[in-house]
Amino acid sequence: MPLTRREVLKWVGVTAAAGPLLPAMERIAHAIAERPGAAPIVWYNAGGDHNNFLAQLGHAFPSLMESAAIRWNLVSYDPLVPGVREPSPDSFSSAPIVILESLPPSGADAADGGEPIATVIGRAKAAIFLGTDACYGGTRWTAAEVESAEALCRRSNVPMIKLPGVPVPPHHLIGTLGYLEFRGIPDLDRFQRPQLYYGETVCMRCERRWQLENGEYAESFGDAGCLLRLGCKGPIAHNSCAAQRWNGGENWCVGAGGPCTACSEPGYPLHGGLGLYGRLAEGGPGPGSSTLNRIRAIGWGFVALAAAGVGLKLAHEAIDPIGQAAKASGRDRRGSSSVQGPT
Ligand code: SF4
Ligand code: SF4
Repeated sequence: MPLTRREVLKWVGVTAAAGPLLPAMERIAHAIAERPGAAPIVWYNAGGDHNNFLAQLGHAFPSLMESAAIRWNLVSYDPLVPGVREPSPDSFSSAPIVILESLPPSGADAADGGEPIATVIGRAKAAIFLGTDACYGGTRWTAAEVESAEALCRRSNVPMIKLPGVPVPPHHLIGTLGYLEFRGIPDLDRFQRPQLYYGETVCMRCERRWQLENGEYAESFGDAGCLLRLGCKGPIAHNSCAAQRWNGGENWCVGAGGPCTACSEPGYPLHGGLGLYGRLAEGGPGPGSSTLNRIRAIGWGFVALAAAGVGLKLAHEAIDPIGQAAKASGRDRRGSSSVQGPT
């Protein structure tokens, strides 16, 4: 029997909690497949490796792949594959959801008549930017190309949803598609990310959080303790990994002893010169929970970054090193000029 809207949304909630992810994703995927008149899905990836979705699900959950690839009204479009047919907006019975794992060429616009995918985006119900590169620019796309794609959406009032991550947790995509289909546009943060999945910093549910609170730090890899001094960027990373982990809940970056590199943030991977393992600033956390309380209270806001070796300082200044400053400085999505320097 098909799931009710309420039941689907309950399973979407499970994808954002520490619940049984795979059964939740399967139910949502089936519900989308069975829903009469479900929005068509156009998956645009120009020569990519589909790293953000298909490979993971193919290994972890083949039956879910079957729903996604066969039973969904899904058009996968790669303009670099010889002979592939371009999706035509007129061929869809209703506005599609466009998943942008690649970005259309800069300047592509429906008015130009030159880029069919631009026309499809212009008539979409929503555009999902999939992966950190597509969300902010990076190795495959520049910040200017991201802006161009955003402008394309804005011109046609197409809601943008960003799902960053290296890679994107697959349940973020399945859950977002379920929410879009059965409820609407989810609550988004200022980077257009669903609050459901990106509303908390990684520290909040990290198993080493109590060590952060108590000022107990690992000084070298393999040590017990909070990994802040080894470059962990959990305080500025917004993602759900600490709660849901990876590989069917097997483990995750910090659980395996590796610092979080804040792969879901606009500054990734340079983080304004800190790089993957450069240390965030520290404010002498000491015993008690003042540091954590600040992290909880400010989320993004007031965490100052310092170059590696300078130490830590959690400042009460509204520095917001990666986000607002990046926007103010011509949207330097790599954050190279946007991070507060050594303090
Ligand atoms: S800084 Fe890293 S290791 Fe420490 S609590 Fe935050 S996420 Fe966990
Ligand atoms: S723990 Fe950090 S680096 Fe690892 S996947 Fe999550 S956000 Fe990315």
